[in-house]
Amino acid sequence: MSKDTVFPDPADTLTVCTSVDELKKAIRNIRAGNQTIGFVPTMGALHEGHFSLIDIAKQKTDAVIVSIFVNPAQFGPNEDFDSYPRQLQEDVDACKKAGVDIVFAPDRDEMYDDSTYLSIKIDTLNDYMCGASRPGFFEGILLIVNKLFNLIEPDVAVFGQKDIQQIQIIRQMVKEFNHGVEIVAAPIQRANDGLALSSRNTYLTRDQRTVAPGLFRSLQYIEQQIISGVNEPKLLIEHQKDELEAKGFEIDYLNVFTEKTLSPVTTLSKDERYILAGAAYLGKTRLIDNILIEL
Ligand code: AMP
Repeated sequence: MSKDTVFPDPADTLTVCTSVDELKKAIRNIRAGNQTIGFVPTMGALHEGHFSLIDIAKQKTDAVIVSIFVNPAQFGPNEDFDSYPRQLQEDVDACKKAGVDIVFAPDRDEMYDDSTYLSIKIDTLNDYMCGASRPGFFEGILLIVNKLFNLIEPDVAVFGQKDIQQIQIIRQMVKEFNHGVEIVAAPIQRANDGLALSSRNTYLTRDQRTVAPGLFRSLQYIEQQIISGVNEPKLLIEHQKDELEAKGFEIDYLNVFTEKTLSPVTTLSKDERYILAGAAYLGKTRLIDNILIEL
């Protein structure tokens, strides 16, 4: 075959949209071909965790859309919105390699047209874990995910188990708002030493990076004790908190929560599913991690 007759494989082409209009047009093209859409929302600075979500979306659907948007509505006034890593060109190149069909990378004005937003109130699912320590965080996430679901109308959306409270709250939103999207939870991707991958890990100093896997190790230790029969893990957890603090962590929370209600439990029972979860600061960097436990 001569070189001229080789056409690019449509699966290898990536469309980058920065406006809602462009996105809608690109989606119309996908839908015209009767293709299903998988959606992976991100804030960029993509790492292997994000690419594992993209792989799952590719396996489950015909066309994959990745959004890259550092969503101002989910950052508190003293949080890291300004310093959050932004590397759009690198992310777009990596999405192309990963076989993504559309990257949607809007700027703030494309998603929010003035400084006051409507909000979505969250009841008890927000009372503990990250919801308790980051006021407005999940409301900000629901606002943007709601907009993106309405725009894209994906068949499947993939989220990481690392942000497990986010998944549970989004599942509830999908149920109550009838989004009709299948929500898929993807396993946590980790560095070799166990640290959960995160765009924020780049904030860690070399020393902090060495200490950082301690959070996962504490979770693993507590998990093992629970599996071997400890059904009232309070003291065990307090001890692990002390150990982590001695290593330089400042604990936000470390506890066992029910999977369904996300509320803390003191006595664990058989045939239940729990989330053993922790959030802790190393310097200014907030790390989160969790392990699902089924007894
Ligand atoms: P972010 O860009 O941090 O907002 O994350 C976008 C998506 O990637 C969310 O669904 C996260 O839960 C997911 N994610 C982040 N880190 C990981 C990880 N280490 N493993 C799997 N998924 C992750």
